[in-house]
Amino acid sequence: MYRSHTNGELRLAHVGNEVNLSGWVQKVRDKGFMLWIDLRDRYGITQLILDEERTDKTLFEKVKTLGREFVIQATGTVIERQSKNNNIPTGEIEVLVTKLTILNAAKTPPFTIEDDTDGGEELRMQYRYLDIRRNPVKENLIFRHKVAQEVRNYLSNQDFIEVETPYLIKSTPEGARDFVVPSRMNEGQFYALPQSPQTFKQLLMVGGMDKYFQIVKCFRDEDLRADRQPEFTQIDCEMAFVEQEDILNAFEGLTRHLLQKINNIYVAEFPRMTYEEAMRTYGNDKPDIRFGMKFGELNAVAQHKEFNVFNQAELVVGIAVPGGNSYTRKDIDKLIDWVKRPQVGALGMVYARCNEDGSFKSSVDKFYDQEDLANWAEVTGAKPGDLVCVLSGDTAKVRAQLSALRMELAERLGLRKPDEFAPLWVVDFPLLEWDEETERFHAMHHPFTSPKPEDMPLLDTDPAKVRANAYDLVLNGNEIGGGSIRIHDKATQALMFDHLGFTPEEAKAQFGFLMNAFEYGAPPHGGIAFGLDRLVAILGGQETIRDFIAFPKNNSGRDVMIDAPALIDDAQLTELSLKLNLKS
Ligand code: ASP
Repeated sequence: MYRSHTNGELRLAHVGNEVNLSGWVQKVRDKGFMLWIDLRDRYGITQLILDEERTDKTLFEKVKTLGREFVIQATGTVIERQSKNNNIPTGEIEVLVTKLTILNAAKTPPFTIEDDTDGGEELRMQYRYLDIRRNPVKENLIFRHKVAQEVRNYLSNQDFIEVETPYLIKSTPEGARDFVVPSRMNEGQFYALPQSPQTFKQLLMVGGMDKYFQIVKCFRDEDLRADRQPEFTQIDCEMAFVEQEDILNAFEGLTRHLLQKINNIYVAEFPRMTYEEAMRTYGNDKPDIRFGMKFGELNAVAQHKEFNVFNQAELVVGIAVPGGNSYTRKDIDKLIDWVKRPQVGALGMVYARCNEDGSFKSSVDKFYDQEDLANWAEVTGAKPGDLVCVLSGDTAKVRAQLSALRMELAERLGLRKPDEFAPLWVVDFPLLEWDEETERFHAMHHPFTSPKPEDMPLLDTDPAKVRANAYDLVLNGNEIGGGSIRIHDKATQALMFDHLGFTPEEAKAQFGFLMNAFEYGAPPHGGIAFGLDRLVAILGGQETIRDFIAFPKNNSGRDVMIDAPALIDDAQLTELSLKLNLKS
């Protein structure tokens, strides 16, 4: 038997017991006549003790050769410690070793395996198995397991069935490129890895499964964006015989359950906001509503004066920064530099100080009098002591810029508290989105999303105005889930493909299986998918999803530990019919 107890288990009550422990040597302290070993496993650390008097001499000498991270097994008696360590649960006891076996030696690890390590990100990823021995990483993986388990518990209790869907499929468009897998047995043909199980979960509804979920890997070949993984995990869900309201209620339930079980927080309210309102008041379709600083549109009060920059702008919009009047001129100049950085891209920023005495001082005093500035304050909700920051320009751009400024200032002001949770449903997303590059409309969510019936006539006249029965669940400024009510009849689906620029033949070739299924009694249905990696990171109060993935890829999509992707040899290429025939 390798072990009778784990290294997190022994207490005063075990004193006198003979025990077997196994684990890794965290460190050896050598006082000459006395040796202590911190023995670590997943459950904790137990102190082993050997001394010259009580320990066999050869054993004593053997222990002196132990290095960090050796794997050992020790047998001994639990004794009470002379000096107790209140920082660890096993700190009241130690084990007086009578027998010790080295199960495996270890090279000196390339970084210290402690909570605060000296290892850089790249090195830790290269030796991720050592990184996982560290508490912070280990705890995150256990935390992720707990979240996944609560998801399964909750949904199973609500009669959802977890069904696996295939990974080797045909393209399911979610707006990214497919990863493809060549088929050896079908020369020149390829599978695509699922960007999501979207079409399969809809087919499960046609199959009568009624309530489905799956914790599932999805694959998207996207251009690199910070904190994105080419493979990631979704909590994918679908329900039949539902309207949008049913879905929102069902998944508010799941989110409330998770916040309660995992974070011990009860969130009663899941407010709703239309996409249009989110964009207008926060410049963003995933607003963080834990704090105010709502947008105030200033066109009516700031245009048609002498200030041409504003007169020429499509949108003039501002926010009130709480307490911002205390900023020095230098602070404000720095802020202006910040919005002018290429990542934000504003051309400049106008500001107005709101003095405590009710007067104003702006960077454009030449053009605006006190009454004008009082209007700005009113529209942005600024109070004495605040600073009004104003940007202007093309609507979409200026909203994105001001939203970036709002988030940055909130971060600096400590308004984004990790232990505060404010969920929000954003509803009524546009169905279509104009793509400048291809010069045509794309589905904003995906092509299976149902338009709002009352907006259907607009499909021909003003497609950009058509709203969808699509919704996102936002938590603290992050989109944690998104879904829609689906089209469930062949005619509407065909119409949709037509509007997305598919010829009937193309639609049939790619999605004929789904349209066929719609002819055999497809129930009304809808669903949602949550990004598990992000959700876990947010519930864990942290920013990066990599910290919650056992073996993540780096920002270039590489696994630096196994060194993938990698070249494959000629024979394999030939077998897969991928070898280029370079005829001269
Ligand atoms: N398949 C969608 C996605 O991955 C989610 C859904 O519509 O349920 O975003």
